Amino acid sequence: NTPLHELDPDVAAAVDAELHRQQSTLEMIASENFAPVAVMEAQGSVLTNKYAEGYPGRRYYGGCEHVDVAEQIAIDRVKELFGAEYANVQPHSGASANQAALFALAQPGDTILGLDLAHGGHLTHGMRLNFSGKQFDVVAYHVDEAGLVDMAEVERLAKEHRPKVIIAGWSAYPRQLDFAEFRRIADEVEAYLWVDMAHFAGLVAAGLHPNPVEYADVVTSTTHKTLGGPRGGIILAKKEFAKKLNSSVFPGFQGGPLEHVIAAKAVSFKVAASAEFKERQHRTVEGARILAERLTAPDACEAGVNVLSGGTDVHLILVDLRASELDGQQAEDRLHEVGITVNRNAVPNDPRPPMVTSGLRIGTPALATRGFGAEDFAEVADVIAEALKPSYDASALTARVRALAAKHPLYPGLGK
Ligand code: PLP
Repeated sequence: NTPLHELDPDVAAAVDAELHRQQSTLEMIASENFAPVAVMEAQGSVLTNKYAEGYPGRRYYGGCEHVDVAEQIAIDRVKELFGAEYANVQPHSGASANQAALFALAQPGDTILGLDLAHGGHLTHGMRLNFSGKQFDVVAYHVDEAGLVDMAEVERLAKEHRPKVIIAGWSAYPRQLDFAEFRRIADEVEAYLWVDMAHFAGLVAAGLHPNPVEYADVVTSTTHKTLGGPRGGIILAKKEFAKKLNSSVFPGFQGGPLEHVIAAKAVSFKVAASAEFKERQHRTVEGARILAERLTAPDACEAGVNVLSGGTDVHLILVDLRASELDGQQAEDRLHEVGITVNRNAVPNDPRPPMVTSGLRIGTPALATRGFGAEDFAEVADVIAEALKPSYDASALTARVRALAAKHPLYPGLGK
């Protein structure tokens, strides 16, 4: 029972340093969040010791009576949260959920239609080095000049290629998708509609975004982005896909489920059904809107700094630096220097290479979880705008960042 600090001071030091980094800087990576202490407690529990291949009530191992309870709670809660007929809470990650979902709906060699990675799609939606791109025949749709998904192109490509699966979902897109239109197109070409709501699941749970479960055959998600739970994946679907999806996850792609993570997912679904969570998601979306407004205000930024699609409906904005001297790498470094963590991101038709890019993806979920409100997000936006100017006072901006971090302490009881 030797504690970590005694048994392994090297790893403990890295954990402590990471806690300090999270506490003292502003986390604005759009796919990140801060899990509640209770979620981390469940995730760090003795459930990590248990093998439980199979599903609740139908396991291949003895002694599963307690993990069965936790997994069934997770299933019931997530079905209720999103109004789904079926849920699988075992995927180890979003990519694992997507792999299991895709192989349940299609065979290798079938055609799939998804949003191009360079236009905001995810690796698992058909990128050539990913399983999806290697094993399926990929057709990609794009965003138009205004930065919006080109539904006319989706329809044209669907009719031309008759994909087995149409994928709606994104990793870097600031607007809501038209699920009803995706459904209409899928029906017209007799394709399955799979929605990957990994990014916006928290907004859906809070009723601030259309619910794809009402439209799609299968919906996948991560549990750690806007949803604010432990790192992991889930699959929701209509009942008719239950058998195929269950066997695709196990034994198709996974062995023993991570019951400690599943218990933590259950806790996070309870949190996601609360009024506090709803209020937090409101601040998340409001914060992103404030960032977009302030960064596009006249003279707020240097010439050449724009926001893709002119704003946002969700928890992130995409800063477009195609017309700026500053590239994505330099902008990311500038913000890092003053204590704001973001990621550079390719924008559609990006003239710069993928390791450099001409964009930034900036998200608000983690800061909203920390308690940031409208005034704080306005201050964050002003710090970002200043940091992207050719001459900027790094130490003054760092002090403003530190003041915001101090105003909203993160995990105050931890690391003491
Ligand atoms: N799907 C989308 C839309 C994502 O943005 C991501 C992660 O960035 C994933 C799936 C994959 O999730 P994970 O990193 O847990 O595999």
